[in-house]
Amino acid sequence: MPRIVMKFGGTSMAGIERIRSVAARVKREVDAGSQVAVVVSAMAGETDRLVGFCREASALYDPREYDVVVASGEQVTSGLLALALQALGVPARSWLGWQLPVRTDAAFAKARIEEIDTAALDRALATGEVAVIPGFQGVHDGRVATLGRGGSDTSAVAVAAAMGAERCDIYTDVDGVYTTDPRIVPRARKLAKVTYEEMLELASVGAKVLQTRSVGLAMKEGVRVQVLSSLTGPEAPMAATLPGTMIVGEEELGEEMDAVERQLITGIAHDKNEAKITLTAVPDRPGAVASIFAPLADAGINVDMIIQNVAHGARGDGTGSTDVTFTVPQADLPRSLDVLGRGQAAIGFADVIHDTRVAKISVVGVGMRSHAGVASRMFTTLGQRGINVQAISTSEIKVSVLIDEDETELAVRVLHTAYGLDTAE
Ligand code: ADP
Ligand code: ASP
Ligand code: MG
Repeated sequence: MPRIVMKFGGTSMAGIERIRSVAARVKREVDAGSQVAVVVSAMAGETDRLVGFCREASALYDPREYDVVVASGEQVTSGLLALALQALGVPARSWLGWQLPVRTDAAFAKARIEEIDTAALDRALATGEVAVIPGFQGVHDGRVATLGRGGSDTSAVAVAAAMGAERCDIYTDVDGVYTTDPRIVPRARKLAKVTYEEMLELASVGAKVLQTRSVGLAMKEGVRVQVLSSLTGPEAPMAATLPGTMIVGEEELGEEMDAVERQLITGIAHDKNEAKITLTAVPDRPGAVASIFAPLADAGINVDMIIQNVAHGARGDGTGSTDVTFTVPQADLPRSLDVLGRGQAAIGFADVIHDTRVAKISVVGVGMRSHAGVASRMFTTLGQRGINVQAISTSEIKVSVLIDEDETELAVRVLHTAYGLDTAE
């Protein structure tokens, strides 16, 4: 009997009516003869609300207690879906993170799944029962641990890998992965297939349709992942007909599409969650850069883009100074400023300036490996619209720029057109 994982996001679980329609969707797969494990998110907005309570209760909250609070949203929806399934005559049981268990490491609030015990799951599925598993949560040392925002995608892929599912279907509020966020560019095109590598890069630069870790895990474990819409009626196509977007290995893509025929750029993503920090008049001497970034790394802060300007008055004798600009996740800004403030004397900079009104725009595509000119087209297109580039970073298949946050939508739109990604009308 084929085994599948069905994962439903927050919008699909927002309220009893929607949970009922999720239950109907699950029933169709059961009736079609599949053994089904369902992974659910909290109702839309619920996790934000719970995070807000934690912040209110204590600014520098203890991650272990934060996890106790924020994991509760998924506990509610998993129980409700089991009830809704039972009401349709489908045997169903919820399995919380500690019950399976889903074992994680000790990094509370951003834990990684280490192992899922499938003994109970296997027994339940074998009897024809649907297993409903709350996403986003696991257990470490007997305490609930959560996987970082958007983590239910990772729960679903991990469950699919552990139970040897033939597919992991991620049901969400869009009907697939698009060339860019379809809420920003209505002319974005739906992709029938996207490679793990490109999806990983797109997710890591802000395309939140899948959590980055879930894509990395799917790639490592060879899990077939499909992104598809949950908000369609009973006439919606069965998931097995692959109506959504499949995340595939490059070889699978290559069978159908020659590299030359492929678009140079697969997609464009934006991320408004970065903050820019500039340290002015940093001494221009060996070791200065290390003295800035080592303490940030020690504090677990991920620095993304970095630019070091030409040293003022540099004579190569260590008497010049230079400005250093870099970005960190906005959530880590207060801690970054604290770490830098404490290191000011050792680093020797004059001032620290920060700006949260920035956005990172990235273009991604494996075609970049074999084609020059992707970056220059990006800079020219933005320049023609008067959009100033504040920082740049690149990888083999990605170019990112940092711009003013107010220009995000415009930048994404003009780049989407410039790379020929718009749908014809
Ligand atoms: P869920 O609650 O189901 O996990 P998310 O809100 O996390 O849903 O992810 C779905 C959202 O991702 C969509 O509503 C869409 O706005 C956004 N998104 C960003 N980039 C893309 C993209 N390239 N393709 C599709 N959706 C995207
Ligand atoms: N509910 C969690 C969040 O909002 C996990 C998820 O939905 O994937 O981040
Ligand atoms: Mg999500």
